[in-house]
Amino acid sequence: MIWGVFSDVHSNIEALEAVLDAFKRHDVEGFVCCGDLVGYGPSPNEVVERVAGLKPLHAVIGNHDLAVIGRMDLAWFNPYAQAAAIWTRWKLSKEASGFLEAMPTRLETPEFTIVHGSPRSPSEEYLLTPQQFVDNQAHYKISPCFVGHSHLTWCFSKDEANPFGAKTHILADRERVVCKPNIPWVINPGSVGQPRDHDQRASCGVYDDVKREFTLLRVPYDIPTVQARMKEAGLPDFLIMRLAYGQ
Ligand code: ZN
Repeated sequence: MIWGVFSDVHSNIEALEAVLDAFKRHDVEGFVCCGDLVGYGPSPNEVVERVAGLKPLHAVIGNHDLAVIGRMDLAWFNPYAQAAAIWTRWKLSKEASGFLEAMPTRLETPEFTIVHGSPRSPSEEYLLTPQQFVDNQAHYKISPCFVGHSHLTWCFSKDEANPFGAKTHILADRERVVCKPNIPWVINPGSVGQPRDHDQRASCGVYDDVKREFTLLRVPYDIPTVQARMKEAGLPDFLIMRLAYGQ
Protein backbone atom coordinates (compact mmCIF):
# COMPACT_ATOMS: atom_id res chain seq x y z
CA MET A 1 0.00 0.00 0.00
CA ILE A 2 1.14 3.55 -0.69
CA TRP A 3 0.90 5.96 2.24
CA GLY A 4 1.00 9.76 2.25
CA VAL A 5 3.08 10.69 5.30
CA PHE A 6 2.75 14.20 6.72
CA SER A 7 3.18 16.18 9.93
CA ASP A 8 2.98 19.62 11.53
CA VAL A 9 0.22 21.12 9.38
CA HIS A 10 -0.25 23.89 11.96
CA SER A 11 -3.60 25.23 10.75
CA ASN A 12 -2.29 25.92 7.25
CA ILE A 13 -5.09 24.67 4.95
CA GLU A 14 -3.49 26.07 1.76
CA ALA A 15 -0.33 24.02 2.34
CA LEU A 16 -2.35 20.94 3.30
CA GLU A 17 -4.46 21.09 0.11
CA ALA A 18 -1.28 21.35 -2.00
CA VAL A 19 0.17 18.30 -0.22
CA LEU A 20 -3.04 16.29 -0.68
CA ASP A 21 -2.97 17.13 -4.42
CA ALA A 22 0.64 15.88 -4.58
CA PHE A 23 -0.43 12.67 -2.79
CA LYS A 24 -3.11 12.14 -5.45
CA ARG A 25 -0.49 12.47 -8.20
CA HIS A 26 1.60 9.81 -6.40
CA ASP A 27 -1.32 7.33 -6.12
CA VAL A 28 -1.51 7.52 -2.33
CA GLU A 29 -4.06 5.09 -0.86
CA GLY A 30 -3.82 5.86 2.87
CA PHE A 31 -2.58 8.57 5.22
CA VAL A 32 -0.15 8.84 8.13
CA CYS A 33 -0.16 12.02 10.24
CA CYS A 34 2.48 12.62 12.93
CA GLY A 35 0.59 15.36 14.80
CA ASP A 36 0.35 19.13 15.29
CA LEU A 37 -2.69 19.75 13.12
CA VAL A 38 -3.20 23.12 14.82
CA GLY A 39 -1.24 26.04 16.29
CA TYR A 40 0.47 28.95 14.44
CA GLY A 41 -1.81 29.24 11.37
CA PRO A 42 -5.24 30.76 10.63
CA SER A 43 -7.36 27.69 9.70
CA PRO A 44 -7.57 25.21 12.61
CA ASN A 45 -11.13 24.01 11.97
CA GLU A 46 -10.64 23.61 8.21
CA VAL A 47 -7.46 21.57 8.74
CA VAL A 48 -8.94 19.27 11.40
CA GLU A 49 -12.08 18.70 9.32
CA ARG A 50 -10.03 17.91 6.19
CA VAL A 51 -7.73 15.46 8.01
CA ALA A 52 -10.65 13.84 9.84
CA GLY A 53 -12.16 13.08 6.43
CA LEU A 54 -9.07 11.24 5.08
CA LYS A 55 -9.52 7.47 4.91
CA PRO A 56 -7.79 5.28 5.90
CA LEU A 57 -5.93 7.48 8.38
CA HIS A 58 -3.42 6.73 11.14
CA ALA A 59 -2.85 9.91 13.17
CA VAL A 60 -1.27 10.84 16.49
CA ILE A 61 -1.61 14.01 18.58
CA GLY A 62 1.16 16.64 18.78
CA ASN A 63 2.24 18.99 21.55
CA HIS A 64 0.46 22.00 20.01
CA ASP A 65 -2.76 19.99 19.69
CA LEU A 66 -2.42 19.00 23.36
CA ALA A 67 -1.85 22.63 24.42
CA VAL A 68 -4.88 23.85 22.51
CA ILE A 69 -7.19 21.31 24.18
CA GLY A 70 -5.70 22.08 27.61
CA ARG A 71 -3.68 18.88 28.12
CA MET A 72 -0.23 20.52 28.01
CA ASP A 73 0.95 23.57 29.95
CA LEU A 74 1.39 26.68 27.79
CA ALA A 75 4.50 27.57 29.81
CA TRP A 76 6.28 24.94 27.68
CA PHE A 77 5.91 27.17 24.57
CA ASN A 78 7.56 30.36 23.32
CA PRO A 79 5.45 33.57 23.44
CA TYR A 80 4.48 33.37 19.72
CA ALA A 81 3.32 29.77 20.01
CA GLN A 82 1.46 30.67 23.23
CA ALA A 83 -0.37 33.54 21.51
CA ALA A 84 -1.33 31.28 18.59
CA ALA A 85 -2.47 28.50 20.93
CA ILE A 86 -4.70 30.88 22.89
CA TRP A 87 -6.16 32.26 19.63
CA THR A 88 -6.75 28.66 18.41
CA ARG A 89 -8.51 27.68 21.65
CA TRP A 90 -10.92 30.53 21.15
CA LYS A 91 -11.49 29.63 17.50
CA LEU A 92 -11.67 25.80 17.64
CA SER A 93 -15.08 24.18 17.11
CA LYS A 94 -16.45 21.50 19.47
CA GLU A 95 -16.19 18.90 16.70
CA ALA A 96 -12.56 19.75 15.92
CA SER A 97 -11.67 19.71 19.61
CA GLY A 98 -13.37 16.29 19.97
CA PHE A 99 -11.32 14.91 17.06
CA LEU A 100 -8.04 16.09 18.66
CA GLU A 101 -9.13 14.65 22.06
CA ALA A 102 -9.57 11.20 20.53
CA MET A 103 -6.10 10.97 18.94
CA PRO A 104 -3.50 8.75 20.67
CA THR A 105 0.06 9.86 21.46
CA ARG A 106 1.55 6.81 19.69
CA LEU A 107 0.38 4.26 17.15
CA GLU A 108 1.81 0.97 15.97
CA THR A 109 0.54 -0.76 12.82
CA PRO A 110 2.01 -3.91 11.23
CA GLU A 111 3.86 -1.59 8.77
CA PHE A 112 5.20 1.26 10.94
CA THR A 113 5.23 3.16 14.24
CA ILE A 114 3.95 6.76 14.50
CA VAL A 115 4.73 9.34 17.21
CA HIS A 116 4.99 13.13 17.21
CA GLY A 117 8.30 13.74 19.01
CA SER A 118 10.15 10.50 19.80
CA PRO A 119 9.20 6.93 20.77
CA ARG A 120 10.30 7.41 24.41
CA SER A 121 8.74 10.85 24.82
CA PRO A 122 6.06 11.26 22.12
CA SER A 123 4.89 14.76 23.03
CA GLU A 124 8.13 16.43 24.10
CA GLU A 125 11.46 15.17 22.77
CA TYR A 126 12.87 16.63 19.52
CA LEU A 127 14.69 13.75 17.82
CA LEU A 128 17.72 15.51 16.33
CA THR A 129 20.93 13.58 17.07
CA PRO A 130 22.35 10.11 16.34
CA GLN A 131 22.67 9.50 20.11
CA GLN A 132 18.98 10.23 20.66
CA PHE A 133 18.13 7.83 17.82
CA VAL A 134 20.22 5.09 19.48
CA ASP A 135 18.71 5.82 22.93
CA ASN A 136 15.18 5.56 21.48
CA GLN A 137 15.66 2.14 19.88
CA ALA A 138 14.36 0.20 22.87
CA HIS A 139 11.10 2.15 22.76
CA TYR A 140 9.57 0.86 19.47
CA LYS A 141 9.46 -2.43 17.66
CA ILE A 142 8.13 -1.69 14.18
CA SER A 143 10.29 0.26 11.70
CA PRO A 144 10.18 2.69 10.09
CA CYS A 145 9.05 4.97 12.91
CA PHE A 146 7.60 8.19 11.52
CA VAL A 147 8.05 11.32 13.64
CA GLY A 148 7.42 15.06 13.32
CA HIS A 149 7.94 17.91 15.83
CA SER A 150 11.33 19.30 14.66
CA HIS A 151 9.93 20.38 11.24
CA LEU A 152 13.17 19.01 9.71
CA THR A 153 13.45 16.09 7.27
CA TRP A 154 15.75 13.89 9.37
CA CYS A 155 16.37 10.28 8.40
CA PHE A 156 18.09 7.98 10.91
CA SER A 157 19.08 4.35 10.53
CA LYS A 158 21.25 1.92 12.43
CA ASP A 159 24.84 1.75 11.21
CA GLU A 160 25.32 -1.96 10.53
CA ALA A 161 29.10 -1.62 10.63
CA ASN A 162 28.92 -0.15 14.12
CA PRO A 163 26.21 -1.63 16.41
CA PHE A 164 26.34 1.43 18.69
CA GLY A 165 26.25 3.97 15.88
CA ALA A 166 23.73 5.57 13.56
CA LYS A 167 23.59 6.89 10.04
CA THR A 168 21.82 10.19 9.75
CA HIS A 169 21.13 12.87 7.19
CA ILE A 170 18.55 15.46 6.05
CA LEU A 171 16.39 14.29 3.15
CA ALA A 172 16.22 16.48 0.03
CA ASP A 173 13.30 16.93 -2.38
CA ARG A 174 12.61 13.70 -4.36
CA GLU A 175 15.21 11.77 -2.37
CA ARG A 176 14.36 8.09 -1.92
CA VAL A 177 15.41 5.77 0.87
CA VAL A 178 14.74 2.06 1.04
CA CYS A 179 14.20 1.03 4.66
CA LYS A 180 16.07 -2.24 4.88
CA PRO A 181 14.13 -4.65 7.12
CA ASN A 182 15.33 -5.79 10.55
CA ILE A 183 17.20 -2.61 11.40
CA PRO A 184 15.71 0.47 13.10
CA TRP A 185 14.68 3.49 11.03
CA VAL A 186 13.26 6.88 12.02
CA ILE A 187 11.99 9.23 9.31
CA ASN A 188 10.63 12.76 9.66
CA PRO A 189 8.63 13.95 6.61
CA GLY A 190 9.20 17.61 7.59
CA SER A 191 6.41 20.13 8.16
CA VAL A 192 3.44 20.80 5.87
CA GLY A 193 2.48 24.17 7.30
CA GLN A 194 5.68 25.65 8.72
CA PRO A 195 8.94 24.25 7.27
CA ARG A 196 12.11 25.34 9.12
CA ASP A 197 14.92 24.32 6.77
CA HIS A 198 15.06 27.51 4.68
CA ASP A 199 12.88 25.91 1.99
CA GLN A 200 9.47 27.54 2.18
CA ARG A 201 7.68 24.77 0.26
CA ALA A 202 5.44 22.36 2.17
CA SER A 203 7.18 19.10 3.06
CA CYS A 204 5.76 15.55 3.09
CA GLY A 205 6.57 12.02 1.97
CA VAL A 206 5.22 8.93 0.24
CA TYR A 207 5.87 5.46 1.69
CA ASP A 208 5.42 2.21 -0.25
CA ASP A 209 5.11 -0.49 2.43
CA VAL A 210 5.81 -3.33 -0.07
CA LYS A 211 9.04 -1.88 -1.46
CA ARG A 212 9.69 -0.27 1.98
CA GLU A 213 10.60 2.85 0.03
CA PHE A 214 10.14 6.41 1.34
CA THR A 215 10.30 9.41 -1.02
CA LEU A 216 10.46 12.96 0.29
CA LEU A 217 8.42 15.58 -1.59
CA ARG A 218 8.50 19.38 -1.45
CA VAL A 219 5.34 21.10 -2.66
CA PRO A 220 4.87 24.80 -3.45
CA TYR A 221 1.70 26.48 -2.17
CA ASP A 222 0.11 29.92 -2.00
CA ILE A 223 2.02 31.54 0.90
CA PRO A 224 0.74 35.17 0.42
CA THR A 225 -2.88 34.00 0.88
CA VAL A 226 -2.05 32.30 4.20
CA GLN A 227 -0.10 35.37 5.34
CA ALA A 228 -3.04 37.67 4.51
CA ARG A 229 -5.42 35.44 6.48
CA MET A 230 -3.02 35.37 9.46
CA LYS A 231 -2.81 39.17 9.40
CA GLU A 232 -6.60 39.42 9.32
CA ALA A 233 -6.81 37.03 12.29
CA GLY A 234 -4.33 39.19 14.27
CA LEU A 235 -1.73 36.41 14.64
CA PRO A 236 1.86 37.51 15.54
CA ASP A 237 3.91 39.16 12.72
CA PHE A 238 6.87 36.89 13.42
CA LEU A 239 4.76 33.82 12.57
CA ILE A 240 3.49 35.52 9.39
CA MET A 241 6.99 36.47 8.22
CA ARG A 242 8.66 33.13 8.86
CA LEU A 243 6.49 31.28 6.31
CA ALA A 244 8.13 33.25 3.48
CA TYR A 245 11.61 32.23 4.64
CA GLY A 246 10.89 28.62 5.55
CA GLN A 247 12.30 28.94 9.05
ZN1 ZN B 1 5.08 21.45 15.11
